[in-house]
Amino acid sequence: MIPLSGATPESDEKLRQRFRCVRIAAYLILVVAFAGQMLARKWFRTAPPGDRGFPIMAFLVSMGFFVFACCLYARVKGRSAWFGLLGLLSLIGCLVLLYMKKSCHRCGTMAKDSADECPRCSAPM
Ligand SMILES: [Zn+2]
Repeated sequence: MIPLSGATPESDEKLRQRFRCVRIAAYLILVVAFAGQMLARKWFRTAPPGDRGFPIMAFLVSMGFFVFACCLYARVKGRSAWFGLLGLLSLIGCLVLLYMKKSCHRCGTMAKDSADECPRCSAPM
């Protein structure tokens, strides 16, 4: 374990809580955005052919939120927000993100997806 200046048990606990909040927010946004995509698809199928602008817009907006939530999730795993673009692949991209290794926010060490603490500096992950 590497002692890092400024890292206290209190700051670690705050970081842990922040990660938990962001993770929950990302899950909620993912679920709502996915439901929005499904509703927009249904709306698109039932709309008359000349009147499909709004369903397409609704789909794109919910897709935007889906990708945003994937960006949040990638960041909370210590990875680049660019990995959020995997959200464009819908559930497949989500699964890839879910099982992607975590990266420590302090030292950059990679760890298993299930790790709660960095194996090198014991920072929360
Ligand atoms: Zn670390």
